[in-house]
Amino acid sequence: MTNIIFIAPPAAGKGTVSKLLQEKYNYNHISTGDLLRSVDKNTDLGKRVQEIMEQGQLVSDELVTELLKEKISTIKGPFILDGYPRNIMQAGILEEMLKELKIDDIMAIYINISQEEAMKRALGRLTCPKCGMSYSKYNEETKPKEDGICDVCKTKLESRGDDNEEAFKVRFETYMKNAQPILDFYKSKNILKEVSENTSEETFKVIEKMIKEVE
Ligand SMILES: [Zn+2]
Repeated sequence: MTNIIFIAPPAAGKGTVSKLLQEKYNYNHISTGDLLRSVDKNTDLGKRVQEIMEQGQLVSDELVTELLKEKISTIKGPFILDGYPRNIMQAGILEEMLKELKIDDIMAIYINISQEEAMKRALGRLTCPKCGMSYSKYNEETKPKEDGICDVCKTKLESRGDDNEEAFKVRFETYMKNAQPILDFYKSKNILKEVSENTSEETFKVIEKMIKEVE
């Protein structure tokens, strides 16, 4: 299976799609956030990362890259890169790394969603504090059967407080501003695909077709 780089603005449904790919095709889901959180504190690299994070500082691109390289060279099976590259500089670093690791079956997938639609999804997102199920009150297919109550465990659902309209707008626009040069970069390399479906399930189906086509 081909490896995937996801370029997806907030609330584009990347989490759900990644999960489906993991379950059905054994993809390794690699997010830099998880990499940093789960770093092995017994290694030199791990100690350095931990120190920086404890001081509340930002981990440099170089360190993240080292972690990423270590991860990619140890996993079995294809991977999904989630949240990396975040800017054009990281795209260049990644390019070098993949060359070194002799990995050339890679596809960049842009999950294209309008800001309006993304906002509707983000602000309509409800999660169950008990079992973790998530729902969208604006989507007929994924809204809870009973208003505001978890289908699975009947707990009262919560909406995320930080997703207010203005904050979301800034987050979305910042993401897209950094993403545009990355999209251009992968387009020029002829490995960019674009999906713009209405639901995560439909997005998954389209992506499934894409990865099968290049097999
Ligand atoms: Zn629940």
